[in-house]
Amino acid sequence: MQITVMSGKGGTGKTTIATNMALSLQGVQFIDADVEEPNSAIFLRPELSEEEKIVWRNIPEIDHDKCNRCRECIDFCEYNALAVLGEKLYVYPELCGSCGGCKIICPEDAISDKKRQVGKINWGKINARDDCDSMEFWQGEMTIGEASAVPLIEELKKEINEERTVIIDAPPGASCSVIESAVNSDFILLVTEPTPFGLHDLKIAVELAEKLDIPYGVIINRSDPEGDEIIEDYCQDKHIKILLKIPFSRKIAVLYSRGKPFVKEMKEWREKFVDLMADIEGITA
Ligand code: SF4
Ligand code: SF4
Repeated sequence: MQITVMSGKGGTGKTTIATNMALSLQGVQFIDADVEEPNSAIFLRPELSEEEKIVWRNIPEIDHDKCNRCRECIDFCEYNALAVLGEKLYVYPELCGSCGGCKIICPEDAISDKKRQVGKINWGKINARDDCDSMEFWQGEMTIGEASAVPLIEELKKEINEERTVIIDAPPGASCSVIESAVNSDFILLVTEPTPFGLHDLKIAVELAEKLDIPYGVIINRSDPEGDEIIEDYCQDKHIKILLKIPFSRKIAVLYSRGKPFVKEMKEWREKFVDLMADIEGITA
């Protein structure tokens, strides 16, 4: 079972849900795919391996002795990553999509590949609790200045252990990196909050889950009996299941600010996440 935890925007509690759920279940592999800002380790506190995997991608390197500035590569590049300035052809690595097309198309054989670091992958384990086996932990960390998280997330997902319950903490939003995180998942958990902004972003996330054709359900974080209506009405209208509500609670907020997953202090919540998992299994069966 592969579950991706998504939210239409940052700050809705996506990582809180993903980490607390992971700590409540047995046999979990946790993958932090929010590679621009991985922060699940703050809550899960894994023992990280000293090894790490560097992820590279190819970008073009120009042989200026061979290049006659014919501009064929510039016209070909859909990413606008090449330009002639003065007498020289320049590559803008941050824009390059590493498709390799310019190298193939160059009539002068003036382009070769140069490696550029996209990011790194770390892994480790978490001894979740005495009555629970250790959790596998993986996270990607993107190099500052890189334009796309997709190559790193692709590499991170190669580490998926199909024998475990995989929980993927996706990046916020609805970009390519979110799609890459969620693709091939068995279920998507959409985390939202009962505000007009929450609803707006939930609608975008629902559209994405529909396009991916992956079953999904909603969790309302910072739930408020007075305000949940805004999400409940939408979900009822669209026949979307609300699987769990996490109340707006000072205790949860204080624990969060201390980097402490709330299931560690409020043990009754473990059972609720176990029930949530059973619901997901029921939906996907
Ligand atoms: S296609 Fe080759 S020769 Fe033409 S501008 Fe690009 S690198 Fe230079
Ligand atoms: S590898 Fe592809 S994206 Fe990068 S510069 Fe060449 S054509 Fe453009």
